[in-house]
Amino acid sequence: MEKEVVLSGIRPTGFLHLGNYFGAMRNYVRMQDEFNCYFFVANWHSLTTHPDTKELKNSVHRVIAENVACGLDPDKVALYVQSDVPEIAELYLYLNMMAYKGELEKTVTFKEKVRLQPDNVNAGLLTYPVLQAADILIHRAVKVPVGKDQEQHLEMARNYAERFNHRYGDVLPLPYAFNYGGELVKILSLDGVGKMSKSENQMNTLYLADEDESIRKKIMKAKTDQGPSEPHSVKPDYIENLFTLMKLVSTPDTVQKFEDDFNNSSTGNCIIRYGDMKKQLAEDMIRFIQPIRAKAADIQHNHELLQKIIRQGADKARASASETLKLVRAAVGMDY
Ligand code: ATP
Ligand code: MG
Repeated sequence: MEKEVVLSGIRPTGFLHLGNYFGAMRNYVRMQDEFNCYFFVANWHSLTTHPDTKELKNSVHRVIAENVACGLDPDKVALYVQSDVPEIAELYLYLNMMAYKGELEKTVTFKEKVRLQPDNVNAGLLTYPVLQAADILIHRAVKVPVGKDQEQHLEMARNYAERFNHRYGDVLPLPYAFNYGGELVKILSLDGVGKMSKSENQMNTLYLADEDESIRKKIMKAKTDQGPSEPHSVKPDYIENLFTLMKLVSTPDTVQKFEDDFNNSSTGNCIIRYGDMKKQLAEDMIRFIQPIRAKAADIQHNHELLQKIIRQGADKARASASETLKLVRAAVGMDY
Protein backbone atom coordinates (compact mmCIF):
# COMPACT_ATOMS: atom_id res chain seq x y z
CA MET A 1 0.00 0.00 0.00
CA GLU A 2 1.23 3.48 -0.75
CA LYS A 3 2.23 5.56 2.23
CA GLU A 4 -0.02 8.48 3.11
CA VAL A 5 1.37 11.91 2.32
CA VAL A 6 2.25 14.25 5.20
CA LEU A 7 3.09 17.92 5.01
CA SER A 8 4.14 20.54 7.55
CA GLY A 9 6.10 23.77 7.57
CA ILE A 10 7.90 26.14 9.91
CA ARG A 11 8.34 29.84 9.25
CA PRO A 12 11.93 31.12 9.34
CA THR A 13 11.03 33.92 11.75
CA GLY A 14 13.57 33.21 14.49
CA PHE A 15 15.39 30.58 16.50
CA LEU A 16 13.65 27.25 17.08
CA HIS A 17 12.79 26.49 20.70
CA LEU A 18 11.76 23.64 22.95
CA GLY A 19 8.09 24.19 22.09
CA ASN A 20 8.84 23.70 18.40
CA TYR A 21 10.87 20.60 19.23
CA PHE A 22 8.37 18.84 21.49
CA GLY A 23 5.26 20.24 19.77
CA ALA A 24 6.33 19.69 16.18
CA MET A 25 9.76 18.35 15.24
CA ARG A 26 9.67 15.34 17.53
CA ASN A 27 6.53 14.23 15.68
CA TYR A 28 8.11 14.90 12.29
CA VAL A 29 11.00 12.62 13.21
CA ARG A 30 8.59 9.92 14.28
CA MET A 31 6.52 10.27 11.11
CA GLN A 32 9.41 10.01 8.68
CA ASP A 33 9.47 6.19 8.80
CA GLU A 34 5.71 5.73 8.62
CA PHE A 35 4.64 8.22 5.97
CA ASN A 36 5.70 9.93 2.76
CA CYS A 37 6.79 13.23 4.34
CA TYR A 38 7.24 16.74 2.99
CA PHE A 39 8.60 19.32 5.43
CA PHE A 40 9.40 22.83 4.34
CA VAL A 41 10.72 26.19 5.44
CA ALA A 42 7.94 28.68 4.80
CA ASN A 43 9.96 31.67 3.56
CA TRP A 44 7.15 33.13 1.42
CA HIS A 45 4.86 33.07 4.43
CA SER A 46 7.42 34.96 6.50
CA LEU A 47 7.26 37.89 4.04
CA THR A 48 3.68 38.63 5.16
CA THR A 49 4.94 39.74 8.58
CA HIS A 50 8.72 40.07 8.17
CA PRO A 51 9.31 42.13 5.00
CA ASP A 52 12.95 42.85 5.92
CA THR A 53 14.93 40.01 4.34
CA LYS A 54 18.45 40.82 5.61
CA GLU A 55 18.38 37.90 8.05
CA LEU A 56 16.16 35.62 5.98
CA LYS A 57 18.84 33.53 4.31
CA ASN A 58 20.52 32.85 7.63
CA SER A 59 17.22 31.93 9.22
CA VAL A 60 16.29 29.55 6.42
CA HIS A 61 19.67 27.83 6.74
CA ARG A 62 19.31 27.60 10.50
CA VAL A 63 15.82 26.07 10.35
CA ILE A 64 17.09 23.43 7.89
CA ALA A 65 20.17 22.75 10.04
CA GLU A 66 18.14 22.53 13.26
CA ASN A 67 15.61 20.16 11.73
CA VAL A 68 18.36 17.82 10.58
CA ALA A 69 20.13 18.14 13.94
CA CYS A 70 16.88 17.07 15.65
CA GLY A 71 16.80 13.87 13.63
CA LEU A 72 15.03 14.58 10.33
CA ASP A 73 16.76 12.57 7.64
CA PRO A 74 16.89 14.42 4.30
CA ASP A 75 17.21 11.05 2.56
CA LYS A 76 13.91 9.84 4.04
CA VAL A 77 11.85 13.02 3.74
CA ALA A 78 11.65 15.92 1.34
CA LEU A 79 13.09 18.82 3.34
CA TYR A 80 12.85 21.91 1.16
CA VAL A 81 12.48 25.65 0.93
CA GLN A 82 9.05 26.89 -0.17
CA SER A 83 10.35 29.38 -2.75
CA ASP A 84 12.29 26.60 -4.52
CA VAL A 85 8.95 25.12 -5.62
CA PRO A 86 7.28 27.64 -7.99
CA GLU A 87 4.49 25.11 -8.64
CA ILE A 88 3.07 26.15 -5.25
CA ALA A 89 2.62 29.72 -6.50
CA GLU A 90 0.68 28.56 -9.55
CA LEU A 91 -1.67 26.41 -7.49
CA TYR A 92 -2.08 29.37 -5.12
CA LEU A 93 -3.29 31.40 -8.09
CA TYR A 94 -6.00 28.86 -9.00
CA LEU A 95 -7.04 28.47 -5.36
CA ASN A 96 -7.32 32.24 -4.98
CA MET A 97 -10.32 32.02 -7.33
CA MET A 98 -11.98 29.66 -4.80
CA ALA A 99 -11.40 31.98 -1.84
CA TYR A 100 -13.74 34.81 -0.96
CA LYS A 101 -12.77 38.13 0.56
CA GLY A 102 -15.42 37.95 3.29
CA GLU A 103 -14.30 34.63 4.70
CA LEU A 104 -10.63 35.57 4.49
CA GLU A 105 -11.32 38.74 6.46
CA LYS A 106 -13.04 36.69 9.15
CA THR A 107 -10.06 34.36 9.72
CA VAL A 108 -8.90 34.55 13.35
CA THR A 109 -5.18 34.73 12.51
CA PHE A 110 -5.82 37.52 9.98
CA LYS A 111 -7.74 39.61 12.50
CA GLU A 112 -4.95 39.06 15.01
CA LYS A 113 -2.28 40.18 12.54
CA VAL A 114 -4.32 43.27 11.60
CA ARG A 115 -4.23 44.20 15.26
CA LEU A 116 -0.50 43.56 15.50
CA GLN A 117 0.56 45.33 12.28
CA PRO A 118 -2.14 47.85 11.34
CA ASP A 119 0.24 49.65 8.96
CA ASN A 120 1.00 46.57 6.87
CA VAL A 121 -2.28 44.81 6.14
CA ASN A 122 -1.05 43.44 2.82
CA ALA A 123 -2.94 41.13 0.46
CA GLY A 124 -0.44 38.35 1.25
CA LEU A 125 -1.55 38.46 4.84
CA LEU A 126 -5.20 38.25 3.79
CA THR A 127 -4.58 35.25 1.53
CA TYR A 128 -2.18 33.46 3.89
CA PRO A 129 -4.63 30.54 4.32
CA VAL A 130 -4.83 30.17 0.53
CA LEU A 131 -1.06 29.88 0.18
CA GLN A 132 -1.07 27.42 3.07
CA ALA A 133 -3.74 25.39 1.27
CA ALA A 134 -1.54 25.38 -1.84
CA ASP A 135 1.44 24.19 0.28
CA ILE A 136 -0.61 21.20 1.38
CA LEU A 137 -2.61 20.41 -1.75
CA ILE A 138 0.39 20.64 -4.09
CA HIS A 139 1.53 17.27 -2.68
CA ARG A 140 -2.03 16.02 -2.21
CA ALA A 141 -1.14 15.61 1.46
CA VAL A 142 -3.84 14.23 3.76
CA LYS A 143 -2.12 14.50 7.14
CA VAL A 144 -0.88 17.82 8.46
CA PRO A 145 0.84 17.70 11.87
CA VAL A 146 0.10 21.14 13.38
CA GLY A 147 -1.01 22.71 16.64
CA LYS A 148 -4.53 23.62 17.68
CA ASP A 149 -4.06 27.18 16.40
CA GLN A 150 -4.01 25.84 12.82
CA GLU A 151 -7.36 24.06 12.79
CA GLN A 152 -9.24 26.88 11.10
CA HIS A 153 -6.65 27.07 8.30
CA LEU A 154 -7.01 23.34 7.71
CA GLU A 155 -10.75 23.71 7.44
CA MET A 156 -10.24 26.46 4.85
CA ALA A 157 -7.83 24.24 2.91
CA ARG A 158 -10.53 21.53 2.83
CA ASN A 159 -13.08 24.07 1.59
CA TYR A 160 -10.82 25.21 -1.26
CA ALA A 161 -10.08 21.61 -2.24
CA GLU A 162 -13.79 20.78 -2.20
CA ARG A 163 -14.71 23.82 -4.26
CA PHE A 164 -11.96 23.02 -6.75
CA ASN A 165 -13.10 19.41 -7.06
CA HIS A 166 -16.72 20.49 -7.38
CA ARG A 167 -15.91 22.92 -10.16
CA TYR A 168 -13.23 21.05 -12.10
CA GLY A 169 -13.39 17.36 -11.10
CA ASP A 170 -11.95 15.23 -8.36
CA VAL A 171 -8.24 16.08 -8.13
CA LEU A 172 -7.45 17.19 -4.60
CA PRO A 173 -7.84 14.90 -1.53
CA LEU A 174 -9.04 16.61 1.67
CA PRO A 175 -6.32 17.27 4.27
CA TYR A 176 -6.76 16.93 8.05
CA ALA A 177 -4.77 18.09 11.08
CA PHE A 178 -2.89 15.23 12.66
CA ASN A 179 -1.30 14.32 15.96
CA TYR A 180 -0.25 11.09 17.59
CA GLY A 181 -3.14 10.94 20.04
CA GLY A 182 -2.65 11.67 23.68
CA GLU A 183 -2.40 15.27 24.68
CA LEU A 184 -0.75 17.88 22.52
CA VAL A 185 2.34 19.17 24.29
CA LYS A 186 2.29 22.85 24.97
CA ILE A 187 5.45 24.31 26.48
CA LEU A 188 4.75 27.44 28.50
CA SER A 189 7.30 30.22 28.73
CA LEU A 190 9.43 30.11 31.90
CA ASP A 191 7.66 33.08 33.48
CA GLY A 192 4.34 31.26 33.03
CA VAL A 193 2.99 34.00 30.73
CA GLY A 194 1.93 32.53 27.38
CA LYS A 195 3.86 29.90 25.45
CA MET A 196 7.50 29.67 24.41
CA SER A 197 7.76 31.40 21.06
CA LYS A 198 10.18 32.30 18.29
CA SER A 199 9.22 35.92 18.23
CA GLU A 200 7.95 36.80 21.71
CA ASN A 201 9.24 36.68 25.30
CA GLN A 202 12.72 35.50 24.33
CA MET A 203 14.28 35.67 27.81
CA ASN A 204 11.76 33.06 28.94
CA THR A 205 12.06 30.74 25.96
CA LEU A 206 14.68 27.99 25.72
CA TYR A 207 16.19 27.91 22.24
CA LEU A 208 17.93 24.93 20.67
CA ALA A 209 20.83 27.31 19.95
CA ASP A 210 21.17 28.56 23.57
CA GLU A 211 24.60 28.29 25.23
CA ASP A 212 24.92 26.32 28.48
CA GLU A 213 25.23 29.43 30.63
CA SER A 214 22.18 31.00 29.07
CA ILE A 215 20.13 27.84 29.67
CA ARG A 216 21.23 27.85 33.33
CA LYS A 217 20.37 31.51 33.77
CA LYS A 218 16.94 31.23 32.17
CA ILE A 219 15.95 28.15 34.16
CA MET A 220 17.25 29.49 37.48
CA LYS A 221 15.11 32.62 36.89
CA ALA A 222 11.98 30.58 36.12
CA LYS A 223 8.96 31.50 38.19
CA THR A 224 8.34 29.46 41.38
CA ASP A 225 6.75 30.20 44.77
CA GLN A 226 7.12 29.31 48.45
CA GLY A 227 5.83 25.77 47.89
CA PRO A 228 2.47 24.00 48.28
CA SER A 229 0.39 24.73 51.34
CA GLU A 230 -0.85 21.16 51.76
CA PRO A 231 0.19 17.66 50.66
CA HIS A 232 -0.92 16.56 47.16
CA SER A 233 -1.82 20.10 46.09
CA VAL A 234 -2.73 20.94 42.51
CA LYS A 235 0.33 22.48 40.87
CA PRO A 236 0.11 26.04 39.58
CA ASP A 237 0.75 26.04 35.81
CA TYR A 238 4.27 27.54 36.06
CA ILE A 239 5.29 24.69 38.44
CA GLU A 240 3.52 22.14 36.25
CA ASN A 241 5.56 23.49 33.34
CA LEU A 242 8.84 22.81 35.21
CA PHE A 243 7.68 19.24 35.76
CA THR A 244 6.65 18.97 32.10
CA LEU A 245 10.13 20.07 31.05
CA MET A 246 11.71 17.71 33.54
CA LYS A 247 9.68 14.78 32.23
CA LEU A 248 10.95 15.56 28.74
CA VAL A 249 14.66 15.69 29.57
CA SER A 250 15.35 14.07 32.97
CA THR A 251 15.28 10.43 34.10
CA PRO A 252 12.01 9.03 35.52
CA ASP A 253 13.73 8.61 38.93
CA THR A 254 14.61 12.26 39.06
CA VAL A 255 11.08 13.32 38.15
CA GLN A 256 9.64 10.92 40.75
CA LYS A 257 11.87 12.30 43.50
CA PHE A 258 10.66 15.86 42.93
CA GLU A 259 7.03 14.69 42.49
CA ASP A 260 7.28 12.96 45.90
CA ASP A 261 8.92 16.01 47.46
CA PHE A 262 6.11 18.17 46.08
CA ASN A 263 3.36 15.84 47.23
CA ASN A 264 4.78 15.55 50.74
CA SER A 265 5.21 19.29 51.21
CA SER A 266 2.92 21.61 53.12
CA THR A 267 3.11 24.98 54.85
CA GLY A 268 5.79 24.78 57.56
CA ASN A 269 7.07 21.52 56.11
CA CYS A 270 8.39 22.40 52.68
CA ILE A 271 10.35 19.45 51.38
CA ILE A 272 10.53 20.41 47.74
CA ARG A 273 13.47 22.70 47.01
CA TYR A 274 12.68 24.52 43.79
CA GLY A 275 16.27 25.82 43.67
CA ASP A 276 17.58 22.24 43.60
CA MET A 277 14.93 21.19 41.13
CA LYS A 278 15.86 24.00 38.75
CA LYS A 279 19.59 23.21 39.10
CA GLN A 280 18.90 19.60 38.19
CA LEU A 281 16.60 20.61 35.35
CA ALA A 282 19.21 23.04 34.00
CA GLU A 283 21.91 20.35 33.89
CA ASP A 284 19.60 17.81 32.25
CA MET A 285 18.40 20.45 29.77
CA ILE A 286 21.99 21.31 28.89
CA ARG A 287 22.69 17.65 28.27
CA PHE A 288 19.65 17.54 25.98
CA ILE A 289 20.29 20.76 24.04
CA GLN A 290 24.09 20.57 23.75
CA PRO A 291 24.34 17.88 21.03
CA ILE A 292 21.49 19.40 18.99
CA ARG A 293 23.13 22.83 19.21
CA ALA A 294 26.53 21.47 18.22
CA LYS A 295 25.18 19.41 15.33
CA ALA A 296 23.04 22.29 14.05
CA ALA A 297 26.03 24.65 14.16
CA ASP A 298 28.17 22.17 12.23
CA ILE A 299 25.55 21.79 9.53
CA GLN A 300 24.89 25.50 9.37
CA HIS A 301 28.55 26.23 8.73
CA ASN A 302 28.84 23.48 6.15
CA HIS A 303 27.51 25.29 3.12
CA GLU A 304 28.20 22.46 0.78
CA LEU A 305 26.09 20.08 2.85
CA LEU A 306 23.32 22.66 3.26
CA GLN A 307 23.21 23.25 -0.49
CA LYS A 308 23.04 19.52 -1.08
CA ILE A 309 20.17 19.06 1.40
CA ILE A 310 18.26 22.03 -0.01
CA ARG A 311 18.72 20.96 -3.64
CA GLN A 312 17.80 17.36 -2.92
CA GLY A 313 14.67 18.52 -1.07
CA ALA A 314 13.67 20.86 -3.90
CA ASP A 315 14.05 18.08 -6.48
CA LYS A 316 11.81 15.73 -4.51
CA ALA A 317 9.23 18.43 -3.78
CA ARG A 318 9.13 19.63 -7.39
CA ALA A 319 8.70 16.11 -8.70
CA SER A 320 5.61 15.64 -6.54
CA ALA A 321 4.36 19.20 -7.13
CA SER A 322 4.60 19.06 -10.90
CA GLU A 323 2.57 15.87 -10.98
CA THR A 324 -0.25 17.51 -9.05
CA LEU A 325 -0.01 20.63 -11.19
CA LYS A 326 -0.33 18.56 -14.35
CA LEU A 327 -3.62 17.15 -13.03
CA VAL A 328 -4.77 20.57 -11.89
CA ARG A 329 -3.99 22.21 -15.24
CA ALA A 330 -5.75 19.47 -17.14
CA ALA A 331 -8.79 19.77 -14.86
CA VAL A 332 -8.97 23.55 -15.22
CA GLY A 333 -8.39 23.30 -18.95
CA MET A 334 -4.95 24.88 -19.04
CA ASP A 335 -3.26 22.07 -20.93
CA TYR A 336 -2.65 23.29 -24.47
P1 ATP B 1 6.10 32.60 16.00
O1 ATP B 1 6.31 33.25 17.35
O2 ATP B 1 6.91 33.21 14.88
O3 ATP B 1 4.64 32.39 15.64
P2 ATP B 1 6.20 29.92 17.04
O4 ATP B 1 7.21 29.68 18.10
O5 ATP B 1 4.79 30.11 17.46
O6 ATP B 1 6.72 31.13 16.16
P3 ATP B 1 5.47 28.44 14.69
O7 ATP B 1 6.39 28.51 13.51
O8 ATP B 1 4.25 29.31 14.70
O9 ATP B 1 6.33 28.72 16.02
O10 ATP B 1 5.04 26.92 14.94
C1 ATP B 1 5.79 25.83 14.48
C2 ATP B 1 5.25 24.57 15.17
O11 ATP B 1 5.65 24.55 16.56
C3 ATP B 1 3.71 24.45 15.17
O12 ATP B 1 3.37 23.11 14.86
C4 ATP B 1 3.31 24.81 16.59
O13 ATP B 1 2.10 24.14 16.97
C5 ATP B 1 4.52 24.33 17.41
N1 ATP B 1 4.72 25.14 18.64
C6 ATP B 1 5.09 26.45 18.68
N2 ATP B 1 5.22 26.88 19.96
C7 ATP B 1 4.95 25.81 20.76
C8 ATP B 1 4.94 25.59 22.20
N3 ATP B 1 5.27 26.56 23.04
N4 ATP B 1 4.62 24.36 22.67
C9 ATP B 1 4.31 23.36 21.80
N5 ATP B 1 4.29 23.48 20.45
C10 ATP B 1 4.61 24.69 19.91
MG1 MG C 1 3.19 30.75 16.06
